Amino acid sequence: MFDNLQKRLDSVFKKLKGYGRLTEENIQEGLREVRLALLEADVNYKVVKDFIAKVKERALGQEVMESLTPGQQVVKIVHQELIELLGGKTSSLSLAGKSPAVIMLVGLQGSGKTTTSAKLARFLKKKGRRPYLVPADVQRPAAIKQLQVLSKQVGVECYPSDPKEPPVEIARKAVLKAPLMNLDTVIIDTAGRLHIDEALMGELKAMKEKVAPQEILLVADAMTGQDAVNMAKAFDDALGITGVILTKLEGDARGGAALSILAVTGKPIKFVGIGEKLDELEAFHPDRVANRILGMGDVLSFIEKAQETIDREKALKLQEKIKKDAFTLEDFRDQLRQIRRLGSLEQILSMIPGFNKLKKMKGLVPDEKELIHIEAIINSMTPEERADYKIINASRRRRIAKGSGTTVQDVNKLLKNYAEMHKMIKKFKKGKFRGFPQGLFG
Ligand code: GDP
Repeated sequence: MFDNLQKRLDSVFKKLKGYGRLTEENIQEGLREVRLALLEADVNYKVVKDFIAKVKERALGQEVMESLTPGQQVVKIVHQELIELLGGKTSSLSLAGKSPAVIMLVGLQGSGKTTTSAKLARFLKKKGRRPYLVPADVQRPAAIKQLQVLSKQVGVECYPSDPKEPPVEIARKAVLKAPLMNLDTVIIDTAGRLHIDEALMGELKAMKEKVAPQEILLVADAMTGQDAVNMAKAFDDALGITGVILTKLEGDARGGAALSILAVTGKPIKFVGIGEKLDELEAFHPDRVANRILGMGDVLSFIEKAQETIDREKALKLQEKIKKDAFTLEDFRDQLRQIRRLGSLEQILSMIPGFNKLKKMKGLVPDEKELIHIEAIINSMTPEERADYKIINASRRRRIAKGSGTTVQDVNKLLKNYAEMHKMIKKFKKGKFRGFPQGLFG
């Protein structure tokens, strides 16, 4: 996510921070490079022009020229202006007012609309709402089935749409039915097309009139760069949208759409999709995204994710076990599972400041495959072995390696690591054991 842009800006700022004093020329040159970096990231040229003009005005002012750390000051200004460009404050959904609240998701086919409907339902359910998913994409009959399957996975109700019925009717009936089922948030997955056309806009406008949604969110694919921006503009002009959900952001190394949408359309990005899985939807926080772009990491998102994923009760039990020296291989596996549920290691680590530099140092970070191996090895052990690793002799090791599709060396390595961890825990206990720090363990 934003990898290329981050690298480019990092080298510009390193140079700027290297100067003890900055001349006007240094700043001009630095900003020229920032401008190029943004254009290369596929940010709309007019947006870049305005952005640089704003930064320049401030950077050439006294704030910077007279400061003791002029390079740092320029970075600070770019950081603040980036936050503004991305929307300033976080834009949340406004669902107050009438009940049920109605959200229409619109967008082209393949943008991720159906998946995002289910992700959004899951998100809102976690926030205590009672969502009702409504498949109204009769253009693609498979879309109805797809949403029904997804709704089961996230554990929310799904309206039994009849593909023979006009989408506006489906939406109207679903909104009437929701309160009878004690559901308070209707999420309509509208029809997609390959291109914007009159028929599509006509249908969406009719639906908007009929169900008066509080939110009309355009789902757009970040990987399409400026096309996503143009799409947002076209939907906003024709229909009026309240915000954008940018999908597939994790695969977008440039970030052009994310950085241009608000400036071009005046409509904020409210959520981003960062993977195919149903929990891979995040609220869009301009400050955190600016931090990521400037390589300052996004520790807040990480902590939130950890809090959402990690089972507190289990964590407390684990702490008890560690205190009693009863931390078995089974607990070790549970712990790994929890960590893996947080997302891919790459995703987790990319939220930590300075990680991009670490990424280059091979071997420092265990890879995904290694974790999967470890889990397979522990799965191949008997419960007795998991409870007491000391009984795992050579023949058992061979059996475990075979069962897990790994090698005896892999099994040895895991047992060695686990034994070392045991030793460490013992040391902990001899010293002042105050439990693990808050975070991963609770
Ligand atoms: P629709 O035609 O707009 O309803 O699109 P779908 O919901 O069927 O999604 C199209 C494809 O995009 C599917 O393979 C989804 O899994 C994938 N997709 C959706 N959101 C994301 C995302 O945030 N990241 C990634 N990598 N894939 C996504």
